[in-house]
Amino acid sequence: AHLDRIAAVDGAVHAFLHVNADEALATAADVDARRAAGEDLPDLAGVPIAVKDVVVTKNQVTTAGSKILEGWIPPYDATLVEKLRATGMPILGKTNMDEFAMGSSTEHSAYGPTRNPWDTDRIPGGSGGGSAAAVAAYEAPLAIGTDTGGSIRQPAAVTGTVGIKPTYGSVSRYGLIALASSLDQAGPCSRTVLDSALLHDVIGGHDPRDSTSLPERAPSYAAAAREGSGGDLTGLRVGVVTELGGEGYQPGVRASFDAGLAQLREAGAEIVEVSCPSFSAALAAYYLILPSEASSNLAKFDGMRFGLRVEPSEGPVTAERVMAATRGAGFGPEVKRRIILGTYALSAGYYDAYYGSAQKVRTLIQRDFAAAFEAADVLVSPTAPTTAFRFGEKVDDPMAMYLNDVATIPANLAGIPGISLPSGLSDDGLPVGFQILAPARADERLYRVGAALE
Ligand code: GLN
Repeated sequence: AHLDRIAAVDGAVHAFLHVNADEALATAADVDARRAAGEDLPDLAGVPIAVKDVVVTKNQVTTAGSKILEGWIPPYDATLVEKLRATGMPILGKTNMDEFAMGSSTEHSAYGPTRNPWDTDRIPGGSGGGSAAAVAAYEAPLAIGTDTGGSIRQPAAVTGTVGIKPTYGSVSRYGLIALASSLDQAGPCSRTVLDSALLHDVIGGHDPRDSTSLPERAPSYAAAAREGSGGDLTGLRVGVVTELGGEGYQPGVRASFDAGLAQLREAGAEIVEVSCPSFSAALAAYYLILPSEASSNLAKFDGMRFGLRVEPSEGPVTAERVMAATRGAGFGPEVKRRIILGTYALSAGYYDAYYGSAQKVRTLIQRDFAAAFEAADVLVSPTAPTTAFRFGEKVDDPMAMYLNDVATIPANLAGIPGISLPSGLSDDGLPVGFQILAPARADERLYRVGAALE
């Protein structure tokens, strides 16, 4: 049914870069046979899923939205993909994204943008717009995203779906094509909180192949979601972050956020105001740390080891000239911009002024969160300052695009978990996201509170 739905709507939505119908059907048939034979299978066995194209899949093309990886077939599966397969989840295909997960709209995909199913003249968010749109358009009940600065939560917000960025280290990064290794985290996209919790239970857990993987296995997130669905939040302290939600937020987004707060109060939660003064520097710190790490991670695309190789049209074929020609042809403008920014910020003469300062800001942000979580059990804000914008509106103005991440970035800098929940429609008729943040390793709070608000 999902493959039929993809055939019917994906021409208009373009959520998928590759669809793997034969493999998905074979997995489904295998699950059916095992179930018929009386085997006791996991909850999500047979439930199809879409996977963001930044996650490597054995024997299936993986491009990360880039021309430099066009046609590249990985020889191995990411740990999380191994877990999906072991659970018996048919992988429908790979979803579109901004090139190497750099962007907030999918307009930086080398293969053309994904369209928002609510209004196909508008962006589906980014970088994981393909995963969110696939879920919103009923092409897949579940999807995998990755969130380095908001790429699961902001697409969820603008497509009216649920997206979770787990605690850093909760889901293995082995087999994610790295953007910024200290920020990257894979997580679930779905239509309900319980669905995301069930998926997080499948993909989470320690992995010896990821050196930053958390040592202990998480408790059951699905149990937390089921517990929360009763709707009683008596005694929960909810902190509204002063710095996230004021100036620059669309009035319709603020109105919907206020309605969410009223719902929390009705459920018995106590609302307090908390201030995180260092958040004003979060965006600047992120856009130094991310390009620095990305410039190092992307150095492996040298025309020799993976994907595209372009030889210079004239002159000698040296390693350096092959690298230059390959990268010149294979990387898009946003990727080039960030590599230049990152190598500059890391260069000997500027390291202390830029990268070093950004790391200090990161510590201040972690301290702000620590103080805020003394006063509140969870923090809340709108997920993004605006509803889905139109194609072309921000693509030529990097600052305007970067500002869309203002509310999601602090969580990545601190490694804490966050969820974006649908919170009704703005006065423009488009979905708005309500963000809840919890302390590191307290992801179950997101599921409990999220399910109570659904
Ligand atoms: N939009 C942000 C950026 O461009 C977030 C990216 C992400 O989370 N992968 O960096």
